[in-house]
Amino acid sequence: MTTPDALDVVLVYPELLGLYGDRGNAMALAHRARARGHRVRVLRVGAGEPVPAEADIYLLGGGEDASMLVAGELLAEQHAFVRALRSGACCLAVCAGFQLLSQGYTGPDGRTHAGLGVLDVECGRLPGSRAVGEVVARPYDDRWGLITGYENHQGDARLGPDAVPLGEVFGGVGNGHAGNEGARQLGVLGTYLHGPVLARNPDLADHLLEGALGSPLGDWVDPAVERLRRERLRAADRRGLLRRLLEPCQ
Ligand code: GLN
Repeated sequence: MTTPDALDVVLVYPELLGLYGDRGNAMALAHRARARGHRVRVLRVGAGEPVPAEADIYLLGGGEDASMLVAGELLAEQHAFVRALRSGACCLAVCAGFQLLSQGYTGPDGRTHAGLGVLDVECGRLPGSRAVGEVVARPYDDRWGLITGYENHQGDARLGPDAVPLGEVFGGVGNGHAGNEGARQLGVLGTYLHGPVLARNPDLADHLLEGALGSPLGDWVDPAVERLRRERLRAADRRGLLRRLLEPCQ
């Protein structure tokens, strides 16, 4: 599918997996790639349509419990797509999308459903009420700035040894285990964060673009994104979410 000078970004089933503006992740990727002189095509693959095997970046967003179950059944038939992810294709999977790429996830009925088995992650249910609100996480990759986003989920995520978390949660819930948020394995970034997360975290967007291009991108600071990040971090600070982050080390 790739032409030498265009990146193909595929939105997978956005009518089922597109909560909280997650399809804006495609816009953020296209914006940042075009600013560096790359051509981008954003392709929308509707529910049940074949997911192409050779996209440069796949995007799966969040979904309500019912639409997530439908998406899971349809994606289980998309063998070429799953093979592409297992072979290292670049992908961002948000919330329901993250859970669908796991080994298995628990539905609202308490039943465990098979995931697509791409990530070494098991998703159960958070023991208490839904995790809802702003999240701030310190990334484990020290080239990235603070990770921020918005979460609204009942599922959790327990990582096995082949997946590494994206960051340590300082405010909010994230995976609900080991104080971590998200997972990274092969070319996949999984996260509980909406926002859209790539608009709020340009380092994550550039990480995906660089994976797809196979070469580093030049630095590029978008003043609008910097304003958004400052505003969101101030909002997190007002809610006391940065307090632990700013505490001096004991
Ligand atoms: N329905 C799933 C959950 O509650 C995913 C929610 C979402 O994608 N925001 O965990």
